[in-house]
Amino acid sequence: AKSSGRNSYKFYTADLNARAREILAIESQLRFALERDEFVLHYQPLVDMHSGRVVGAEALIRWQHPNLGLIGPAGFIQVAEERGFIVQIGNWVIREACRQLAEWLARGLPAVKVSVNLSALQFRQQELSTVIEDALAEHGLSGDCLDVEVTETVVMEDAEATLAAIERIKGMGLSLSVDDFGTGYSSLSYLKRFKADKIKIDRSFVRDIPGDSDDAAITRAIINMAKFLNMKVVAEGVETREQWDFLAGEGCDLVQGFLVAKPMPAADFAARYGKTPRV
Ligand code: C2E
Ligand code: CA
Ligand code: CA
Ligand code: CA
Repeated sequence: AKSSGRNSYKFYTADLNARAREILAIESQLRFALERDEFVLHYQPLVDMHSGRVVGAEALIRWQHPNLGLIGPAGFIQVAEERGFIVQIGNWVIREACRQLAEWLARGLPAVKVSVNLSALQFRQQELSTVIEDALAEHGLSGDCLDVEVTETVVMEDAEATLAAIERIKGMGLSLSVDDFGTGYSSLSYLKRFKADKIKIDRSFVRDIPGDSDDAAITRAIINMAKFLNMKVVAEGVETREQWDFLAGEGCDLVQGFLVAKPMPAADFAARYGKTPRV
């Protein structure tokens, strides 16, 4: 037992060292990732439960690291936020999503609304609405092509400034989704002032429905509340047919999750959901 304990300790420190080296590598290389063009967006479909059609795509960032391979956002977004890189990265996400959508439309793919995730720091920059306006204009897109996803916490942090920025963005025709709903310090009064178009029920509530009666009740309550407030509801992280059936029965509008598809490269998304243009 003693020797196996020592072995597992060795493994543990080896793991820690590897992890520490990895974090260091990420910190030192993240600042160059943009200019080296190492970020890519993957897209996950949003399906309308009533029609069964793909009506949207959430853009999710990945870092194609030269040595470490494809790194998901969990591996670098927090570092990017702490170091302030997230503003530049987030602006790139907006421009790249617009570029991609314009390319899809030019190739005759059916129009989908593309959702981008915005972090709190992006709202602190004065030019957020200008960045969005320029990206749309450069690719000949109208505001209603884009949806922005923000978490509840974003609004709570700097309410007045953020609400003003959100109003400018909505004024340009973009829609607004409240992401990870139910996990932050939700305030229903903010939700009302927000005038959000969509609420995304966090995956943690969806995971154990319909079996878990608490989660089923919470999910039902969020759907009903959204209806009263005239907002659409998206269920995140739907993985099973049973979850889908429960959500359909409760009147959920849209679904996103592995049951439909995992996030995928743009080319795969186009191949799977794009129809060849009629000639
Ligand atoms: P999120 O905005 O809540 O995005 C949904 C996450 O859930 C994605 O993880 C997606 O792959 C995952 N997911 C979707 N369906 C399922 C499912 O059925 N089962 C399971 N287990 N997972 C599912 P991903 O791509 O790793 O992104 C994680 C988070 O990173 C995002 O959570 C978002 O908060 C952040 N993120 C991603 N892209 C960006 C970005 O461009 N900017 C910023 N600021 N944050 C981003
Ligand atoms: Ca999101
Ligand atoms: Ca989410
Ligand atoms: Ca999340």
